[in-house]
Amino acid sequence: MTESKNVIVVGAGIFGLSLAVALRKKGHSITVFDKQVYHETGYQPPENDEFQAASVDHNKIFRASYGSKLHYQRLAYESRDEWLRINKDAGSDLFVDSGMLRVQPTSELGALEKETLTNMERDGLRPSQFIKSDAADRERARAEGWEAKLLEFPIPDDPEQKTFEAVLDSSAGFMRCSAACEYYRKLALSKGVNFKFGPKEGEYESIVSIESTTSPGKNRATGIKTKDGLTHPADVVVIAAGSYTTQLLPDMAYHLESSAGSIATFKIDESNTALWDKYSPEKFPVITWKSTPRNKAGKDTGSVYVLPRTPEGLVKIGYRGIKFTNFQPAPDDASFNQDGKWSVPLSPKDSTKIPEPAVDAIRQFVSIFLPDFTNTEFYSSKLCWYTDTLDNSFVIDWVPTYADNSVFVTTGGSGHGAKFLPVLGKHAADIFDNKENNTSAMYPFWRWREDANRGNGLSEGPNGPRNFDNLE
Ligand SMILES: Cc1cc2nc3c(=O)[nH]c(=O)nc-3n(C[C@H](O)[C@H](O)[C@H](O)COP(=O)(O)OP(=O)(O)OC[C@H]3O[C@@H](n4cnc5c(N)ncnc54)[C@H](O)[C@@H]3O)c2cc1C
Repeated sequence: MTESKNVIVVGAGIFGLSLAVALRKKGHSITVFDKQVYHETGYQPPENDEFQAASVDHNKIFRASYGSKLHYQRLAYESRDEWLRINKDAGSDLFVDSGMLRVQPTSELGALEKETLTNMERDGLRPSQFIKSDAADRERARAEGWEAKLLEFPIPDDPEQKTFEAVLDSSAGFMRCSAACEYYRKLALSKGVNFKFGPKEGEYESIVSIESTTSPGKNRATGIKTKDGLTHPADVVVIAAGSYTTQLLPDMAYHLESSAGSIATFKIDESNTALWDKYSPEKFPVITWKSTPRNKAGKDTGSVYVLPRTPEGLVKIGYRGIKFTNFQPAPDDASFNQDGKWSVPLSPKDSTKIPEPAVDAIRQFVSIFLPDFTNTEFYSSKLCWYTDTLDNSFVIDWVPTYADNSVFVTTGGSGHGAKFLPVLGKHAADIFDNKENNTSAMYPFWRWREDANRGNGLSEGPNGPRNFDNLE
């Protein structure tokens, strides 16, 4: 039994909520702070440009296909089991097993796909996968009721009129992200977690710290100060502020970069029964597509995905081919900068328009995969901010720049964290309580790693082609 601690968690998104529940279960006293008023909105996505948080969204993809990253594949299956249990507990489908069609760039299986299938095979999961061109898989899909989702899409301008190869993953689907956060907020409340919400009471301003008596030259955090001027004492401060994390904790600057994904929606009216039915999760899978170069300029238009329509009738399409950056002057206390700058989120108001390369890629995708919407205006569009890490793995560890294990961080979702909501906290709490003696198989990937190469595009900096200032 570890000593019970008074813990402040800053950020009530997926990473903060998951850890708060897990730490409370282990007997710690927890208060979660967030500048949003989630207790009033129930995490409902805002209709306008009020605020931005990656976890506040209608839906996010659930998949266990991770190429060669077997550790994430296994974590995804661990999470899937929990989602199924949560569905029963919640009495509604927070996780929907609609299946996901991984459409290949050509009429053949790509290299990453082959790796994914090999790893699925290794863990005995191959029966959940159906290759479109494989006669035996088709037969299985027919027998198991999945065949209608093995959709055929013609390759544009192909002289042989071939269709794209595809693999249907029947273990994948999506989670209702906002609804799942609200479920977790209520779960946390029922376990005795305290919440402070809103732009004054809930908004973090700074860490309060004193000089450490045990680690000369370092400070020990003793709590936080909020925007209303109050100081809140704590044994440990956890920062879980998503794409804002570096601004709250500039010591994270080497590990993280905020970048923008581009989202557009179409809206189907319920009276249009043909489309309403066609794009329902029962009939339509999640579709992902890694394209080959095929826009007008011959450039790779990158990876695009679509989710089945929501109960509100929204069909969401996401473009992640280019994650756009917004380099601004970095503060003096940032542990790392590039030419004096770092990338931080644009304001919600400035995040309502998506750049031209994203519009082009989405339109290209729509013309092939969603021809019903080729001439339809977007119902909405926005930039949604990722918290990318230097290697696409999360960062969940004690912050070594603070003394006496007084600051912990759980962040760096890198565009794939939402699906792990039910299990992130359990692994993070193990790291929190047991430090380097923890038993989480994920710790080698999530540890503090300033010794790691700054990859995943993070080396590009302000002069790179993804920076908004440099877009043509
Ligand atoms: C475009 C896009 C698509 C994605 N698609 C998928 C997907 O398909 N599948 C998947 O599994 N994952 C996906 N992800 C990743 C997933 O959404 C994130 O990993 C996850 O939501 C991050 O949660 P978080 O808690 O770290 O951050 P957030 O959800 O951003 O939460 C951070 C919280 O901190 C609060 N905060 C910030 N500053 C302060 C402050 N000063 N004081 C108090 N509170 C503060 C914010 O209000 C917010 O509530 C996607 C992400 C993006 C951006």
